[in-house]
Amino acid sequence: MSSIELLSECTSSELKSKDSNISLENISLDYGQSGKKFRALENINLQLCSDDFVCVLGPSGCGKSSLLNIIAGYLTPSSGNVFIDGNSHTSPDPQVGVVFQQPNLLPWLNIQKNIEFGLKMKGASKAKRVEIASHYLELVGLRDYDKSYPHQLSGGMKQRAAIARTLAADPKIILLDEPFSALDALTREKMQKHLYFIWEKTRKCLFFITHDVDEALLLGNRIIIMHSNPGRIIKEYKNPLIRSKEQNFRKLRSQKEFFEMREYLIDQIQEDDEKNNE
Ligand code: ADP
Ligand code: MG
Repeated sequence: MSSIELLSECTSSELKSKDSNISLENISLDYGQSGKKFRALENINLQLCSDDFVCVLGPSGCGKSSLLNIIAGYLTPSSGNVFIDGNSHTSPDPQVGVVFQQPNLLPWLNIQKNIEFGLKMKGASKAKRVEIASHYLELVGLRDYDKSYPHQLSGGMKQRAAIARTLAADPKIILLDEPFSALDALTREKMQKHLYFIWEKTRKCLFFITHDVDEALLLGNRIIIMHSNPGRIIKEYKNPLIRSKEQNFRKLRSQKEFFEMREYLIDQIQEDDEKNNE
């Protein structure tokens, strides 16, 4: 079987049979006023489950961030609904965690206190806060930096602290919009490994937007391709690459299958870019 055949499409019945916590139903989004409307998203249907590491790929402007903002509850769709455990979700709430491109930690609090902050707001006891924050500091590899302040950490470390803070709130899903794109190549590779390790440990549902096909193939178990005008999902694939706790990214990248799938996915994305530039 060729590697492209291995990259099989997910069927909707297959996805529906899984125990889905988050469901996007017929989401469309128009920007602008009546008369001058711009359709940014059209008829998006998606089931997201715990255990999913969903990577979303698509050309710039196809609506990836708009979709993420709708799932986060920051944007209201023009039509359609987001359901979490069967309940309509229309505004930001702790069930949906967001990791931004900039870690936006509170500069006057140390890392431990930054992670505890949301828990304190929720009324967790001091002992509980310390226990949870310590657990996630350990998970993201920052145990020895609990008393450090954000300005004392590198960009990658700050981003890991931001991920720990999000995890500490125990959301059902974590949304990440190109979280590593501001990092240098080496730090980026380390962060990919960290995130994969975190996902392996927690099996949280991750909805991860990237413009980097390699990143999607290394990290995601589901890969979604979007096209623009209007923004829509055109394909969804199961990632067949061997995945293990000891994910060896260099080895994966050097496989013939990786290379072929990468080219195939890039072609699919470029098809849309070329159409728009005609
Ligand atoms: P992506 O994240 O895939 O690059 P976006 O979701 O940011 O795409 O944007 C999708 C489309 O919607 C783009 O054409 C963008 O210019 C447009 N857009 C985004 N935000 C707004 C807004 N607030 N008002 C009007 N148009 C917007
Ligand atoms: Mg974007």
